[in-house]
Amino acid sequence: MSSSIPERQWLPPHLRTLGTTIFAEMSALATATGSINLGQGFPDTDGPDVVREAAVSALRSGHGNQYPPGIGIPELRNAIAAHQLRWYGQSVDADTEVLVTAGATEAIAATILALVDEGDEVIALEPYYDSYGACIAMARGVRVPVTLRAPSFRIDVEALRAAVTPRTRLLLINSPHNPTGMALTDAEREAIRSVAVENDLIVVSDEVYEHLVFDDRAHVPLATLPGMAERTITIGSAGKTFSFTGWKIGWAIAEPGLLNAVRTTKQFLTYVSGGPFQYAVAQALELPDDYYRSFTAELQRKRNLLSSGLASIGFDVSVPEGTYFVTTDIRPLGFDDGLDFCRRLPELAGVVAIPHQVFYDDLEAGRPLVRWAFCKQDDVLLEAIDRLSALPRR
Ligand code: PMP
Ligand code: GLN
Repeated sequence: MSSSIPERQWLPPHLRTLGTTIFAEMSALATATGSINLGQGFPDTDGPDVVREAAVSALRSGHGNQYPPGIGIPELRNAIAAHQLRWYGQSVDADTEVLVTAGATEAIAATILALVDEGDEVIALEPYYDSYGACIAMARGVRVPVTLRAPSFRIDVEALRAAVTPRTRLLLINSPHNPTGMALTDAEREAIRSVAVENDLIVVSDEVYEHLVFDDRAHVPLATLPGMAERTITIGSAGKTFSFTGWKIGWAIAEPGLLNAVRTTKQFLTYVSGGPFQYAVAQALELPDDYYRSFTAELQRKRNLLSSGLASIGFDVSVPEGTYFVTTDIRPLGFDDGLDFCRRLPELAGVVAIPHQVFYDDLEAGRPLVRWAFCKQDDVLLEAIDRLSALPRR
C-alpha cells in the first residue's frame, strides 16, 4: 500500500492487540528463510494410511460431501463416546453430550462466546494457548492469569484460589499444557476440582494432547472427577491424536444443558465442517490400543532426542511431561529475550522456534523461554540440533 495513505484502524479497540498469531508469523519466517520449522506444532509426516484412505473413500462414496448434521455425524459422535469409555471409563451420551466442531479452536471459541458475558472473569493458566486470550477478548471478558513458572511449571494452588472472585465465570484449564509441556498431577487435579466445586465454576478443559503424556503418566479427564461432569466442558481434537492437523475435526463434551449453550454459538460460527473427514476420524478413533501406545512411545522418543540435543548445546531444558513441545531457558547461552532470539534465530542458525512471552501477561515470567516442537522427523530434529550447536555465544 502507498505510504501516503494513512493506515486505517478497522478493528474495535478491544481487538487491536490481537495482531497476527505467532504461529503464522514464525511459519512464514521459516518459509521465507528456508529455516527448519520447530515453531508451529504440526507433525511433518501424515497420520496412518488407513485413516487417510478412509477420508478418500468417504469423499468418493459421497459421505459427508453435503452438510453433515449440525452436531456431527452419528458415527463420529458414537466413536467419541466410545473413546471416552475405552480410555477413561467416562460414560457420555453420543446424542446429547457430544458436539463435533471445526477443530478444538472452534470448540474453544464457541464455548467462550456462549458462556462469557461482558466483564466476566475467566481464570486461565498462563502461558495461554493464544486463541484463549483472543476469544475472551471477543466475548469482552476479562482474563485472569494463574502463572506457571519455569522450570517445573507446577500450578500454584494458592494463586489459583486467590484468583477466584464473584465475577469468575470460567476456569480454563489445559493439560497436557501448551506451551510448557506440564501435565497435571493427581494433587493438582484435586485442587482444581475443589476450587471449581466450592465456587460453583464452569471448567473448560482443553485436552487436545490427551494421548501425548509421557513416562507412563495417566491422562485423567477433569470431567471424570467427583462433581465435575456437570460443570466441565471437555475439548478434544483429532488433529493431534492422528497427526492430521489440517483436517480440523475437534469436539466438545458436556452435560446436555451446557453443551446446548455451546451448540447455540457453534451453529453460527461454521454451522458444520469437514464432512468426509468426520467419517475418517470416526474410524481413526476405533484404532486398536496399539496404535495409541506406539504413537505416544514414538513422540516420547522424539521428546528425548530433542530435549537431550538442546541440553547438550547448553540450554536449560524443562523436559515436558506431555504435548509436542519442549521449553528451554535461553539465558545460559547469553540471550535473555525470547522474542528477539526467535526473530533472529533463522539468521543465526537457520531454525525457527516460538517465544513463550507472547503467551504471558506477566512478560517477565516468559521472557527467557523458548518453545521447540519435536513432532518432526528424526533427521530434521538432528539437523536442527546440529545447526543450533553452531549458535554464537554472547
Ligand atoms: N488447544 C491447544 C492447547 C492447542 O495446542 C491447539 C493446537 N495446537 C488447539 C487447541 C487447536 O486445535 P485444533 O487444531 O484442533 O483447532
Ligand atoms: N497449536 C499449534 C501450536 O501450538 C498451532 C496451531 C495454530 O497455528 N493456530 O503450535
